[in-house]
Amino acid sequence: MIKKRIGTNDVASSSKKELFKLLESSMQGLDDTEARRRLADFGANEIQQSKKRSQLQVFVKNFVSLMALLLWVSGTIALLAGMPELGVAIWLVNIINGLFSFWQEYAAQKATNSLEKMLPTYTTVIRNNNNRRINAQDLVPGDVFVIQAGNSIPADARVLSAESLEIDESALTGESETATKDQNYAKTEGKFGQNNIIYAGTTVARGTATAVAFNTGMETEFGKITNLTQKQGKLKSPLQLELNRLTKQISVIAIIIGVVFLIAAVFFVHYPWTKSFVFALGMIVAFIPEGLLPTVTLSLAQGVQRMSKKHALVKELSSVETLGETSVIASDKTGTLTQNQMTVNHLWLPDNNFEVTGEGYSNNGQVQIKQQKVDIEKYPDLKLLLTISALNNDSKIEKTTEKKTKVIGTPTEAAHIIVAEKAELEIPQLVKEQPRLKELPFDSGRKLMTTIHSVNGKNIAYVKGALSSIMQRSGKIRINGEVRTLNNDDRKSIEDANRHYASMGLRSLALAYRELNENEMEIADQNNIENRLVFVGLTVMADPPRPEIYAAIKKCHDAKIRVIMVTGDSALTAKSVALKIGMISEDARVITGNELEKMDDQALRDAVKQEIVFARVAPEHKYRIVKACQANGEIVASTGDGVNDAPALKQADIGIAMGVTGTDVAKDAADMILTDDNFASIVAAVEEGRTVYSNIQKFLLYILNSNVPEAIPSVLFLLSRGMIPLPLTVMQILTVDLGTDMLPALGLGAEKSEPGVMEQPPRARNSHLLARSVIWKAFAWYGAAAALISTFAYLFVNYMHGYTITNLSENGEVYVQATTMTLAAIVFCQIAAAINCRTEKTSVFTIGLFSNRHIIRGIVVEIALLSSLMYVPVLQELFNTTAIGLTEWIFLAAIPLPLILVEEIRKYFVRLRAAKNKNS
Ligand code: ATP
Repeated sequence: MIKKRIGTNDVASSSKKELFKLLESSMQGLDDTEARRRLADFGANEIQQSKKRSQLQVFVKNFVSLMALLLWVSGTIALLAGMPELGVAIWLVNIINGLFSFWQEYAAQKATNSLEKMLPTYTTVIRNNNNRRINAQDLVPGDVFVIQAGNSIPADARVLSAESLEIDESALTGESETATKDQNYAKTEGKFGQNNIIYAGTTVARGTATAVAFNTGMETEFGKITNLTQKQGKLKSPLQLELNRLTKQISVIAIIIGVVFLIAAVFFVHYPWTKSFVFALGMIVAFIPEGLLPTVTLSLAQGVQRMSKKHALVKELSSVETLGETSVIASDKTGTLTQNQMTVNHLWLPDNNFEVTGEGYSNNGQVQIKQQKVDIEKYPDLKLLLTISALNNDSKIEKTTEKKTKVIGTPTEAAHIIVAEKAELEIPQLVKEQPRLKELPFDSGRKLMTTIHSVNGKNIAYVKGALSSIMQRSGKIRINGEVRTLNNDDRKSIEDANRHYASMGLRSLALAYRELNENEMEIADQNNIENRLVFVGLTVMADPPRPEIYAAIKKCHDAKIRVIMVTGDSALTAKSVALKIGMISEDARVITGNELEKMDDQALRDAVKQEIVFARVAPEHKYRIVKACQANGEIVASTGDGVNDAPALKQADIGIAMGVTGTDVAKDAADMILTDDNFASIVAAVEEGRTVYSNIQKFLLYILNSNVPEAIPSVLFLLSRGMIPLPLTVMQILTVDLGTDMLPALGLGAEKSEPGVMEQPPRARNSHLLARSVIWKAFAWYGAAAALISTFAYLFVNYMHGYTITNLSENGEVYVQATTMTLAAIVFCQIAAAINCRTEKTSVFTIGLFSNRHIIRGIVVEIALLSSLMYVPVLQELFNTTAIGLTEWIFLAAIPLPLILVEEIRKYFVRLRAAKNKNS
C-alpha cells in the first residue's frame, strides 16, 4: 500500500529502483485493475475549485437587494398604516420576484458548469505496457506517463527519461524563464529546484519525456497552493458591468422621481402621507430594472450553451459579447480552413518525379511513375527519401484487425509513413536496422524535425521540414546516389518545382540528411546538427479545403469581418488556398515571416488594413499581427494550437484554440475552444454572439417601454391634483413589473438569430447597450402608444358607466373595474410589444409568429395570470381587481392588432431604406 502523500525530496533523490518500489510500479506502468483500485483509493486527479458561493447565500441575496429592501419597507409601512392587503400583496410580489431571480441565476450557473465538464484534459499513460490516452482525472500515483511540448503536466512526477525537456513553471513559481529538466538528480535553489521533478499545473514548453506520477489532485504542490489562495470569483463581463452601472443610474433617477412624486402627492394633491409614501416607493420599484441582471446572465449562459452545440466552447460569459463585436479573424490555415487530411501525392527528386496513387491508406497502394509500379530498390534516392519519411516520423501504423489498420499521429507525419508503406518499404525492419538514438522534436519556429539514427555503425541525422528552412541549412545535394555541392541551378530547379506544386495549393516538405562525426553526438543540439545538410527531395501533399469553408468565408465578407490567413506554410501555397476559398482577390499582398520581421509597427498596421495573407510565419509573428490589428481599432479573434501561440491567443480579444489538434497550453490561453477545429464554427459563434447582444437589447426595450404606461397614470393623477383618481394602483404597477412581464422578457432572450444579422457590419466598439435608438423606441413609440391605450381603457370603462373626464369615479365597483382595465390594457400592449420586439427589421410573419415557443408560453401565462387576478376572489381582494365583461375583453383582444400592424409597416420602411442604401 503506497502512502497518501509522498515527499518530493524522497522521490527526487531515490534511485529508479527505490522509486518504483516506493510507488509499487514499474517502467511498464500499472495494470488496469491496480489503476482502478488506486483511483478509488486516492480519488480523482483534480484540483477542487475553491468553495463556490453556497446556494443559500445566492438565495438570500435576492431578498436583500436594494429593490427587495424597498419592497419589504413599503409592505411594512402599508401594514402599519392599516392597509394589510396591500402590505401582504407587496410582500408576496417581492417573494415571487426573489424566487424567480434565484431560479434564473441557478439556471445560468448550471449552464456554465456543464461546459466545464466538456473540456477534459487528456494524458498519455503506459498501462499494461501499452500507450493509452486517458482523461487526466483518472491518473493515479504510480502511473507512468508520456509528455511532449504543449502538454500540461497532469501530476507531480519524477522524470524517467527526457529529450530537450523544458518546462514552463510560471503558473507555480511566477518565473517566466523555462526550467530545463531531465532524469538526473540535481538540486538547485528554491522550493521547486529539483531537476528531475515536474509539477502539476505547469506545462511542457519544449521536448519530450516519460515520468512517473507520485502525488495527484489536491496532494500536488499546485493543489496545495490553490487550497491556500482561494480563487477569486470570476470577473464580470463588460456587459454585466455596464448593466450594473445602468441599473445604478436608473435607480438613482427612480429615487429622484419617487421623491418628487412623494412631495407632489403630499403637498400638491394633499394625499395622506402614508399612502403617498407607499405610492412613491411603488413608483421607485417599478422603475428600477432589478430583474435585468439575472435575465442578462441567463441569456448569456444560454448563448454559451447554444454555441457549445455548434462546436464552440466559450470559457467566460463575457466572450459571447466580444464575439459579437469581432471585426477581424486571424486564422491558421492547416486544419482550420483546410481538412488537415494530408495525402502525399508526389515525390520529387532532383532528377526524377514520382506520382503517388491510392486513396489515403490502403495496403495495395503503390508508388507509380508514369502509371508503372516502381521498384524502389532500383531508385536508391527514392528509397532514401522514403526511409527518411518513415523514420523521421512519430506516427505509428497499428493493425486493428486483420484487414484494418489505423494511423496514430499528426496528419503530416501520418501522410509520410503512409507513403512509405505504399511503396512497400519494410518499416518495422528498418526501425530495427536503424534505431533512433535521439530526436530534435518539430517546432513551428524553426519548422524542422530531426531524428538521429545508427546506420551500419554510423550516426546519421534525418531531417525534414519547410523547404526554406532546409535550403538555408543545406550545402550539398544528392542526385542518383552521388553527393555534390548544391549550386544555384540546383536551388533554382528545387524552387521551381516547389512553385509549381504550391500554385496548385499543394504543400511540400523537404527531406535531407547528414552523416555525423563521432564527437558531434556529444552536443547533439539544433545548432550542431541541423546544418551542412544533404538535400534529398520533396514530398508533396494535398490538403483540401473544408467543404463548408466557402460559405463561412462569404458570411464573413457579408458581415464585414475581415479574415486574415496566418500560416506556417509557404507563400505560394497559402495564397493559392486563400484564392481558392474566396478569401482574397488576385491582388492581395502576401507577407512572409522574414518580410514581417523587417517591418516596423506602423508599416504592419498599414499592411493589415488591406487584403493580406501572412505565410511562413512563426507563432511570435502572430502576436504582432494581432497587436497591429488592435492598434487599428479592430476587435480581433485569433486561432492557435501550439505552445508558442499562447501569447497571441492571450493578446487577441478572443483567443481560439483548436480542441482536436491544440495543445493544453493553447487551450489554457484561449477564451474559446473549437471542438471540431473548424473555421465555420468560429463564424457560427460570432453569429451567436451578435444574436445574444441584440436579444439583450430586445428585452431591454421590452422591459423599459412598460415604464411609460405605468408612470403616466400617476402623472395624470398628480397634474390634475387628484381630480383624475389613480388609474393604476401601486400593486398593479408591481404586478406588471415583477409579474406578468417576466416570462415574455425571458423568451426574447431565447430568440433565434434575426435573418440578416450577418449582413451588417460589426457593432462599433464601446457602443452602448442602451443605444439612443432603443431609448427612443422604448419611450416615444412603444411606451407612448401603451400609455395612450391604457389611459383610453381607463376612460372607456368610466364612459361605459356614464362617467366623464370631469367626474371620474373614484371609489366603488366602477373605479376598480377602470383600474383593472388599465392594468389589462398595459398587459395586452406588452403582448404586442413582446411580438414586436422579436425583430428589428424583419417582419415577424417572416420568422414565424409562433416560432419562439418561449414567447408564446410567456404570453399564455401572462393572460392566465391576469385572468386569475380578475377572477380569483383572494387575489381580487389583494390586487384591487375585479371581473370584466365581454365588451371589455373584446376591447383588450383588439389592442395588439393595430400595434403589431403599425410596427410591421415601420419595419417594412426600414427594410426598404436599408435595401436602397445597399444598392446606392
Ligand atoms: P498553419 O500555421 O496554417 O496551421 P502549418 O501546418 O503549415 O499551417 P506549422 O504547424 O507551424 O504550420 O508548420 C510550419 C511548417 O513546418 C509547415 O508548413 C511545414 O513546412 C513544416 N512542418 C509541419 N509539420 C512538420 C513535421 N512534423 N516535421 C517537419 N516539418 C513540419
